[in-house]
Amino acid sequence: MIKAITFDLDDTLWEIWPVVERAEDLLHDWLAARYPRIPARFTPLELRELSDEVSAARPELAHDRTLLRKEALGLAARRAGYAEFDVEGAFAVYFIARNAVEPFAEVRPTLERLGQRYTLASLSNGNADLRLIGLDDLFSLSLNAIEVGAAKPEPLMFQEICRLLRVSPDQIVHVGDDPEHDVQGGRNAGFRTVWVNRTGRDWPGGGRADAEISDLAELEAVLAAWEQRG
Ligand SMILES: [Mg+2]
Repeated sequence: MIKAITFDLDDTLWEIWPVVERAEDLLHDWLAARYPRIPARFTPLELRELSDEVSAARPELAHDRTLLRKEALGLAARRAGYAEFDVEGAFAVYFIARNAVEPFAEVRPTLERLGQRYTLASLSNGNADLRLIGLDDLFSLSLNAIEVGAAKPEPLMFQEICRLLRVSPDQIVHVGDDPEHDVQGGRNAGFRTVWVNRTGRDWPGGGRADAEISDLAELEAVLAAWEQRG
């Protein structure tokens, strides 16, 4: 008996990387107007890579993409010789633009139909803001790695959603694009898993998902087949 469906967000409900790149470009322009030595020294990609540097040096922050971006911006400012830097203002420019995503066309109608039958929740490693994106009405609960304190594929976020929804892992289907974070993570936590493969990628190896779909509209047939089998 399936009671709930959990969804990954980035690259499952919308395409994220072009949006992130645009947000990084806008931030770069904002920095050029206020702290020109930063963009003179770092390209947008190099600023992103500073997050990896912070994450490597401080693994306890690795699950918190908001804090990693802020720490990386502060590091860039110091390296460019700015003693004072408006990190919150800089991050806000990035964050607003990062949430200017365009959900795939089938997402809202599919989730509206599924929501009549199942409890829907989101489980994300990123810092997407469903209220800004305009999909918050579709989900009963939304968890991300920042508030949980651990990212997928670690079990904590999956365990936490079971606890909050009061359902057991075998009553939940997790749907996501990432073979490791979503499929392995979900499997390891005892969830049924659906791999969203929009671009015809080959499965990278390891335990496969219980089903594979190329867009969310296919999810309804997968669930109906599982329900029939009981
Ligand atoms: Mg994803």
